[in-house]
Amino acid sequence: MVKQTIQIFSRIKPTKSKAGLYHIDEDDEGLPRLTFNIPRDLAEGFINNKKENYKFRFQKVFDQNSKQDEIFDNVAKPVIDNVLQGYNGTIFAYGQTGSGKTFTITGGAEKYNDRGIIPRMLSYIFEYFEQNSDRAFTAHISYLEIYNESGYDLLDPKHEAAKLEDLPKVSLLEDSDQNIHLKNLSVHQASNEEEALNLLFLGDTNRMIAETPMNQASTRSHCIFTIHLTSREHGSATLRRAKLHLVDLAGSERVSKTGVNGVLLAEAKYINLSLHFLEQVIISLSDKSRSHIPYRNSMMTSVLRDSLGGNCMTTMIATCSIDKRNMDESISTCRFAQRVA
Ligand code: ADP
Ligand code: MG
Repeated sequence: MVKQTIQIFSRIKPTKSKAGLYHIDEDDEGLPRLTFNIPRDLAEGFINNKKENYKFRFQKVFDQNSKQDEIFDNVAKPVIDNVLQGYNGTIFAYGQTGSGKTFTITGGAEKYNDRGIIPRMLSYIFEYFEQNSDRAFTAHISYLEIYNESGYDLLDPKHEAAKLEDLPKVSLLEDSDQNIHLKNLSVHQASNEEEALNLLFLGDTNRMIAETPMNQASTRSHCIFTIHLTSREHGSATLRRAKLHLVDLAGSERVSKTGVNGVLLAEAKYINLSLHFLEQVIISLSDKSRSHIPYRNSMMTSVLRDSLGGNCMTTMIATCSIDKRNMDESISTCRFAQRVA
């Protein structure tokens, strides 16, 4: 089997719409396939109304009844297990605003069962530490927000009171070995699950404070929650390092839907460009004939540079809200997913 650079999953958000707007089956090779059934009144608005354009293959498609534990077990666990063995990893959620990216990555606040990948990952990791006492582990956490190509530290204590533009920007520094370091991004040790959850909670609170009714910042920015692990066998001096990034990407919707005033237009341009550069990096990683990977084009790809491709497991969950109104955006989301697969 060819080792893929990136594993792509799709998750459908629950919808009230009763009509069978999609179905999931298998293609001729037995791979999971998501098919959109375009209602007749919508079909005319689509540029190319050929049915085969609306069939998409994924590693697995999670329908609207899928639960958080199912996503964790199938999507996140393999990546985390690889990180616990000492390899970096990255999990992305990609999709339009409102399609369930944050629900999938972080989770809903109301029910315990709605916990998303990050809190489940934290309990899984600390439990692993306890059960594998032959090694001494440490966990550190950082939480970065990238808005209009500028980085902000979501765990900066000053964040609470400040506006984004008053905060020190996180900047990229490259050392002589071409390792990227992030200046002004704090890294916090977490000794147990509770401390780690508190950091997640602090970051998410800061993420919301920066939102105003005019500017729903969290949907217009990329957020990268990173857990940095070290481990060492008792009595050994050799330190093993690995990190895992959970990336809640900015909404992928096209500009026309978000409105076209100056600020929104600028944001949309930054988002489109950074998603485009991410696509370029992933595509060139899987193209063996390409030796140059264009990491430097954006802040996100620079930050993730040592955590994509090679031995690093990279996974993307394409989130879709398939009701009539969001059909075209869901198709764009799946097209993106298909291009990088
Ligand atoms: P995004 O981060 O992509 O903008 P959210 O994750 O905030 O979208 O989801 C939008 C709304 O839909 C939220 O209220 C969220 O709780 C809800 N939601 C999303 N996905 C699911 C799901 N799989 N099950 C139940 N509720 C969901
Ligand atoms: Mg969100």
